[in-house]
Amino acid sequence: MKKYEHLFYDGKWQIADSQVFSDVVNPATEEVIAQVIQATHQDVDQAVQAAKQAFPTWNQTSPKERAVYLEKVLEIIKRRQSDIETTIIQELGASKQFTQNAQVPIAIREMTATLSEFATFSFEETIDNALIIKEGFGVVACVTPWNYPFNQIQRKITPSLLAGNTVVIKPASNTPLTAILYAEIMEEVGLPKGVFNLVTGSGGDAGDYLVSHPDVDVISFTGSTEVGKNLYHHAATTVKKLVLELGGKSAMIYLKGGDLSYAVEAAANTVLDNQGQTCSALSRLFVPHDALEQTKEMLKKYYATIQVGDPFEETTRVGPMVSDSQRQTVLAYIQKGKEEGAEVLIGGHAIEGTGYFVEPTVFVQVKNEMTIAQEEIFGPVLTVLTYETIEEAIAMANDSIYGLSGAVVGPKEEAEKVARQLRTGNVIVNGGNRTAKAPFGGYKQSGLGRENGLYGLEDYLEIKAIFL
Ligand code: NAP
Ligand code: MG
Repeated sequence: MKKYEHLFYDGKWQIADSQVFSDVVNPATEEVIAQVIQATHQDVDQAVQAAKQAFPTWNQTSPKERAVYLEKVLEIIKRRQSDIETTIIQELGASKQFTQNAQVPIAIREMTATLSEFATFSFEETIDNALIIKEGFGVVACVTPWNYPFNQIQRKITPSLLAGNTVVIKPASNTPLTAILYAEIMEEVGLPKGVFNLVTGSGGDAGDYLVSHPDVDVISFTGSTEVGKNLYHHAATTVKKLVLELGGKSAMIYLKGGDLSYAVEAAANTVLDNQGQTCSALSRLFVPHDALEQTKEMLKKYYATIQVGDPFEETTRVGPMVSDSQRQTVLAYIQKGKEEGAEVLIGGHAIEGTGYFVEPTVFVQVKNEMTIAQEEIFGPVLTVLTYETIEEAIAMANDSIYGLSGAVVGPKEEAEKVARQLRTGNVIVNGGNRTAKAPFGGYKQSGLGRENGLYGLEDYLEIKAIFL
């Protein structure tokens, strides 16, 4: 078992003030695979100081110079792709299939897209006699979740640094090894010291201290809506900018005349891949009443082909939940669904034995006001709801505190019309590809701001007008 004793700040791996370690557990085997140092407030202070000192010089470098560093980061990510994948499978439990097809390739695709958009971005413009300049804010505190442990980091660090900011990142406690690997890549690139800094530690302690630090200018957070809401208080004390990517409870709406089996499988895929631990998962499937029986048959047939088990096995589709506590949360939601009168069509139990496994589960007879249709389960649980009219389907889809993603499958014009009426940041129509240059982010309680592409970059840019 490896012990990680250092924090990365001011350009090197530093001896921590802290003597406290936290276990990293492989959720498939329940073995402790590593121990990681938990930063104290003093450690966080030093990392923030390093970032603060590095900012003025980094902010004055040319956009081109900054892009050269990030291009180099991308090259090393590609070279170390299989190390990153193995680490993600070990500490998250994502299946090898999903890690190799999505987790890391998506990070590479999105980073490539951001760099390509950046190359066309103009940092200066004129309005009458005013010279408008866009530049970094200062120190960005990045706090990231465990579900896409590498790309959630990439999505924040790439635009922050390109914009001229310096960063301190506090990754999720369940998946710090992926973050440490990311820091190793940054070390190899040889950024000026203090531009990139990593502190590992718990959200409630190191994370809370970091986001409330007076020398932090931007809080960029991806995680639960509950924690996200609390960040407003911290941001308020020194008027920090907030970028929030929070939870979701997204809808797939199937319209008559569309490809039903495609709609059913596309929704199911989002709660099977990554064990449903995806913020944009289409966990509510809406079908017309008279398509329900056919939908149920399709789901039973499809789920019979899904293999759950060892994430390193090539044929495994569904691995374990990230932690025992995540498994307990998912099982409590399944129990709640049963109590509220929904009917279990498939699954519905924990899988006994070693590892935090839950059966892929489908509920039918679900009402939109039920807890399992309103709250984010973040597990392999699909809810199927029925509707009479399209207006009713749209109203139910929008009747949610969240507004992150959504999908419509149906005749082209009609499907686009429905997509326009969904109150969400993304909508996929008939399986449209999500170009990595497009913005990602949520309406309502799903967040504030956008990630990826030019919109993602703009969230990290201050704007100055100089009147000449
Ligand atoms: P979480 O509990 O909110 O944790 C996210 C991060 O915040 C972790 O690094 C966590 O540290 C840290 N944290 C926790 N409490 C904190 C506090 N008081 N102050 C500062 N930092 C704190 O979320 P999670 O349970 O790990 O992740 C799942 C959630 O993330 C889901 O709700 C999901 O929808 C959301 N998510 C959203 C997106 C998106 O793009 N919209 C993407 C992925 C996930 P510890 O790990 O040490 O607790
Ligand atoms: Mg948590």
